[in-house]
Amino acid sequence: MDLKELKSSWTDAFSQPIMIAGPCSAESEAQMLETARRIRETQANVPIFRAGIWKPRTKPNGFEGVGVIGLNWLKKVKEEYGFKTATEVANAHHVFAALEADVDILWIGARSTVNPFTVQEIAMALRGTDKPVLVKNPVNPDLALWIGALERLLGQDIKNLGVIHRGFSTYQKTKYRNNPNWQIALDFKSQFPDIPMLIDPSHICGNRTGLADITQEAMNVGYQGAIIETHCSPDEAWSDASQQITPEVLAGLIGNLKMRNPGVEGFEGDMGRHRTLISDIDFQLIELLSQRMKISEKIGKLKKENDIAIFQPDRWKVITEYANQKAIETGMSQEFIEKLFKAIHEESIEVQNSIMINR
Ligand code: PEP
Ligand code: MN
Repeated sequence: MDLKELKSSWTDAFSQPIMIAGPCSAESEAQMLETARRIRETQANVPIFRAGIWKPRTKPNGFEGVGVIGLNWLKKVKEEYGFKTATEVANAHHVFAALEADVDILWIGARSTVNPFTVQEIAMALRGTDKPVLVKNPVNPDLALWIGALERLLGQDIKNLGVIHRGFSTYQKTKYRNNPNWQIALDFKSQFPDIPMLIDPSHICGNRTGLADITQEAMNVGYQGAIIETHCSPDEAWSDASQQITPEVLAGLIGNLKMRNPGVEGFEGDMGRHRTLISDIDFQLIELLSQRMKISEKIGKLKKENDIAIFQPDRWKVITEYANQKAIETGMSQEFIEKLFKAIHEESIEVQNSIMINR
């Protein structure tokens, strides 16, 4: 079966947004039960409780998870508070232990998705399971690797699939712990609209302040739910303390979420008109860009005949200045206009380069 034909039905059992909450790591029975109890007491709609039992850590000698004993605590959470349970599996041993303990939902972490051997091992250990298996995006921005992991699972007859967008690691320091790179997740979504996608704002933000905005953005573009790290005493957490929130803060976040309709039923007319206008402007933009490139070719020929370097810093400075000025005048983001003009300029240089070397 092709991944494109897959219709996962596991989401039918939940109302949307499907919320998964619980601590980054299971630390003790008391911590797990208190977190579960307090999530329940808020009455927020959280059907699934998460906890990491085995923790992938960047460096050795950190807290690497409590191991199989934590599976008993997940069971208690299920029995006492009626949650479905979820945990990360990173090898075949984890899979066998988690299946044995009847964990309801399993996920493959970002550090495992990058490794085809690991994904294959997990997929084979899970062969034929009905339990939902969620695949986090790989740490590096590689859509094919993400899709490949799902194909490996489907290859083992695992059909209840979903994905988790947890952001991508970068060397540059940004305001995010993991850059969301929305385009990659949206490309996934447009190729596989029937595979449910959840947001993991905790690992994208790495702090507490950005969680609500990232979650709302995900709902705005039609994600089906979120997985949010929630701890009874976040500051004392043994892993990812800075990004975990209390059950009460979680409930506030969920209460403020606005859900969006997946389709445009009811306002097709207005939507249609706006979309026609947008398409029309897009065609004009492309037409203008093509004219700009043709002029750029002429300049390239002049530069070649006169042996002038392609990149002229003074001219580039003039362009960035007027583009910036125009961005201010029109109320557009200066950062966006700068990015756009860099891309156009790069393409111009490419065009002139092919003229110079007579490609
Ligand atoms: C986690 O969810 O606790 C986790 C380890 O996340 P990731 O695989 O996204 O780093
Ligand atoms: Mn974590």
